[in-house]
Amino acid sequence: MEDFCRKEGIDYEICGKVIVAISEAELPALETIYQRGRTNGVSCEMINSEKLHELEPHVAGIKAVHVPEAGIVDYGQVCKRFAKHLQNNEDNQIHCSTKVIGIRHSERIVVETEQGEFEGRFLVNCAGLYSDKITAMTQPPESKIIPFRGEYYEVRPEKHYLCRNLIYPVPDPNFPFLGVHFTRMINGSLECGPNAVLAFAREGYTRSTVNFLELAEVLSYPGFIKLAAKYWRAGAGEMWRSFSKVAFVRALQRLIPEISADDLETAPAGIRAQAVLSNGELVDDFLIQANKNIINVCNAPSPAATSSLNIGKHIVDIVAERF
Ligand SMILES: Cc1cc2nc3c(=O)[nH]c(=O)nc-3n(C[C@H](O)[C@H](O)[C@H](O)COP(=O)(O)OP(=O)(O)OC[C@H]3O[C@@H](n4cnc5c(N)ncnc54)[C@H](O)[C@@H]3O)c2cc1C
Repeated sequence: MEDFCRKEGIDYEICGKVIVAISEAELPALETIYQRGRTNGVSCEMINSEKLHELEPHVAGIKAVHVPEAGIVDYGQVCKRFAKHLQNNEDNQIHCSTKVIGIRHSERIVVETEQGEFEGRFLVNCAGLYSDKITAMTQPPESKIIPFRGEYYEVRPEKHYLCRNLIYPVPDPNFPFLGVHFTRMINGSLECGPNAVLAFAREGYTRSTVNFLELAEVLSYPGFIKLAAKYWRAGAGEMWRSFSKVAFVRALQRLIPEISADDLETAPAGIRAQAVLSNGELVDDFLIQANKNIINVCNAPSPAATSSLNIGKHIVDIVAERF
């Protein structure tokens, strides 16, 4: 991705990140992250609080993992450049606002959309929040997408000095989410978040967006019922942080004690398409379900944007092998 951005003149910056342990209790999990990073060839260093304060003077923390190779990018520009490269070949077409509503398949595949039909030999489904719905058009999906909204705040410019780059807490290994963190964006803004609350619609980007059919499907899914029974306490905490800015700020203050509610303005939310198995297990890795001439990308969680070129290569390899 870094090579791609450099070649294409896309705005990016390798600014580094710190993953910060606040208490002794978090040190074993921090050590695991550090060892996993090293095993995977990530350049990272375990640093003490002195070095941490040199990098991020306003952070509370007793130890941290510093990842100097981590970076930020204008991902909108990346997507536009992907599209441009595709369109450079006149055989390729991109149809936006073209909802897939059905699929007929035998030797050839016919994709029915609201804008007419498209026919081809192979199909790759990477429909994110609706990837399970598209999968179900040709085979039973192994998992169901549960939408979790991640809400953010933007830090007012006068307080940008509180965070130089990227500051993360030690994540709870029971959840695939990273916990609220501080992210300096490539446009100079500073965001903090996200929490993780059940969205009442797959595209429920605000608290008031409700799709009763989609919500009923989630609430009656055995996997969700098992998940909710196990994690209701953590889920309730996240819901509380969604409604109470004070509670959200308290989570942020663990990392930067000086931050206050007055420093924050509500920012747009994102929705995580989280695949959940019927036994209640959260799928925390990539999940690809392929049949004869169809490849369904059923779970592509973060960092699927960062690793999109590699995931693309992986999918091309599967296509090449099968066809
Ligand atoms: C809050 C948040 C923060 C994140 N931060 C990071 C990060 O820092 N780094 C990182 O690497 N990743 C991050 N991610 C994850 C990353 O955004 C996703 O992993 C990635 O977008 C998944 O890509 P995808 O192509 O599988 O799905 P998507 O990007 O969701 O694309 C799916 C597409 O399918 C379309 N679609 C859906 N249904 C239909 C239909 N019926 N017909 C036609 N089209 C359809 C949708 O409109 C959409 O365009 C973040 C995600 C969230 C929610």
